Amino acid sequence: MHVLILGGTTEARRLAEILHDSPVRVTSSLAGRVASPRMPPGEVRVGGFGGAEGLAGWLRERRVDAFIDATHPFAGTISFNAAAAAATTHVPLLALRRPSWTAAAGDDWHPVGSLEDAAEALPVLGSRVFLTTGRMGLAAFTRLDGLWFLVRSVDAPGLPRPRQTELLLDRGPFTLDGERELLARHRIDVLVTKDSGGAATAPKLRAAREAGIPVVLVRRPPVPLDVPVAATAQEAAAWVLHFSG
Ligand code: NAP
Repeated sequence: MHVLILGGTTEARRLAEILHDSPVRVTSSLAGRVASPRMPPGEVRVGGFGGAEGLAGWLRERRVDAFIDATHPFAGTISFNAAAAAATTHVPLLALRRPSWTAAAGDDWHPVGSLEDAAEALPVLGSRVFLTTGRMGLAAFTRLDGLWFLVRSVDAPGLPRPRQTELLLDRGPFTLDGERELLARHRIDVLVTKDSGGAATAPKLRAAREAGIPVVLVRRPPVPLDVPVAATAQEAAAWVLHFSG
C-alpha cells in the first residue's frame, strides 16, 4: 500500500514516523518553503505538483492508495487542491487538522479575518508587537511606522517589512519559560498570531495571558468541507491501517 502525506507540519512528521514502523509505503511531500526543513522518515518529495490536476496525475502515476492532507491550517490552496484531486481520482483522502485554540479565563483575544485586519487592529492595542505569523505577509504591517515589531520566523523574511523590526530566527516547539522571558525582555505589549492550534507554539498564548497582553488572533481560512477529518496523527494512522487491512 502506498500512502502520500501532504506535510510541512509536526503532525505530518509524526504520522510518517508512526507509519514508518508499519508495512505501508509512505511518501511525504513538502512545499519547499523552508531552507532546511525537519525531515520525516521514509521517502520525501519536495515542491509543488502543479495544481489539483498535477496532484491527480501524481496520485495516478505513483499508484497512491490513500492520501492525507496534513498541511498547516493556513495552507488553504493545497487543501482545496487535495479535495479536487480526490474527487477526480477517487483516491481516498483524509484531512489531519489540529483543533483551533480556545480562549481561557483571563485571555484578551481579538479575532480578525486577515493579516490586513490584524494591522488595522494593532495601533489601539499596543506599540511593541510580537509578530508570530511567519515570514510571509509582512507587507500588511509596513505602514505602521510608529510601532516596533519583534518578528519571529524560521527563515528570514524578505522585504518589505515594517521599518522598526527586530528579527528572531527560531522554530518551535517553544517553552512557557522561554516565551515569558521573551515578552518581558522586549517589553512586548501586544501579540499577533495565526490560529494555528497545536501544542508546539501555544505557550506564547499562556505567557500573554499571564502578562495581561492582548492577542490579535488571525482566524483560519476556509477548508473543503467534504473531506473526513482526524485531529491527531494516531487517528490518521488508524485510518490508513484500516485500508491496508
Ligand atoms: P498553500 O498556499 O496552500 O499552497 C501553495 C502551493 O504550494 C500549492 O498550490 C502547492 O503548489 C504547494 N504546496 C503547498 N503545500 C505543499 C506540500 N505539502 N507539498 C507539495 N506542494 C505543496 O500553502 P502555503 O501556505 O504556502 O504553505 C506551504 C507549506 O508550508 C504547506 O505544506 C504547509 O503545511 C507549510 N506551512 C505553512 C504555514 C502557513 O502559515 N501557511 C505554516 C507552517 C507550515 P502546486 O499547486 O504547484 O501543487
